[in-house]
Amino acid sequence: HHILKFVLSCAGGNGMLTPRTMTSIAPSKGLSNEPGQNSCFLNSALQVLWHLDIFRRSFRQLTTHKCMEDSCIFCALKSIFAQFQYSSEKVLPSDALRSALAKTFQDEQRFQLGIMDDAAECFENILMRIHFHIAEETKEDICTARHCIPHQKFAMTLFEQCVCSSCGASSDPLPFIQMVHYISTTSLCNQAVKMLETREKATPGMFGELLRNASMGDLRSCPSQCGQQLRMARVLLNSPEIITIGLVWDSEQSDLAEDVIHTLGTCLRLGDLFYRVTEEKARQSELYLVGMVCYYGKHYSTFFFQTKIRRWMYFDDAHVKEVYGAVLVVGHTDNINQLTVYLIYYL
Ligand SMILES: [Zn+2]
Ligand SMILES: [Zn+2]
Ligand SMILES: [Zn+2]
Repeated sequence: HHILKFVLSCAGGNGMLTPRTMTSIAPSKGLSNEPGQNSCFLNSALQVLWHLDIFRRSFRQLTTHKCMEDSCIFCALKSIFAQFQYSSEKVLPSDALRSALAKTFQDEQRFQLGIMDDAAECFENILMRIHFHIAEETKEDICTARHCIPHQKFAMTLFEQCVCSSCGASSDPLPFIQMVHYISTTSLCNQAVKMLETREKATPGMFGELLRNASMGDLRSCPSQCGQQLRMARVLLNSPEIITIGLVWDSEQSDLAEDVIHTLGTCLRLGDLFYRVTEEKARQSELYLVGMVCYYGKHYSTFFFQTKIRRWMYFDDAHVKEVYGAVLVVGHTDNINQLTVYLIYYL
């Protein structure tokens, strides 16, 4: 099973147009993964967090936290970020974070030493642990702590409801928070075909609309049983600065990989992604693709757009290299029969 993750960055915002002194440098380093460690999932999640300017800068501002000693993910992350910034080594060990993660999730038997795990779930769980370390007193689903990076920058606060256009009945709104917006690749490809039938060519705004159409889910009966078939609508209540999209494969073997890659856009408007977006700031938001994590041949690697130098970089554990067009590289990989795609969009 193969996974891709995409991360997007703001158009012309934080890079070239900002004076050099205003931008922070994110030195790129490799992360070691010795035989038997199976740390590539963590290394990929870590490269994403380090290279996301919003995360790196906000995390640097945080000083106090509820410390968990040798199982403290916050301390382990602080330590590796300091090494990214100041170490003269080209390759860093991610062992301390790996070990803190294993200790933290021992009861659930997740992320244990030597065992391969899921990069996107690791990414989500690291974010939720940061919430725990800095805003523990507030519940995960109603966290409004201003310094809580996971909830302020990454979380999508949503409610889901179906409203009948014919009789006006509506289902009870279901509120929830998500860090990753998951979409089925089968649904994505079906919707892409449908949308292209009704227009001459793809437009820049189409990608968000495509994702919205693809995530509407199955038809269901009107709550007042008037006979109408309805779809769930999702309403976004906040204005996240980073959006992570997870494209999920419905089966172990799929021949949709190439089609999926062709549907991917590099620009995402929040106003297109959801049925309704309540905040004006979110309605105006345009997010750009800045990165992707791929899982191929039982191994994770990461592509990331370095806003400082405006180049795509490729991170494969200890190896770091510059690439020209990450999506193109993936499109040319032979024998892709299945990919799970995670996209992260960043303002
Ligand atoms: Zn600590
Ligand atoms: Zn929080
Ligand atoms: Zn109805």
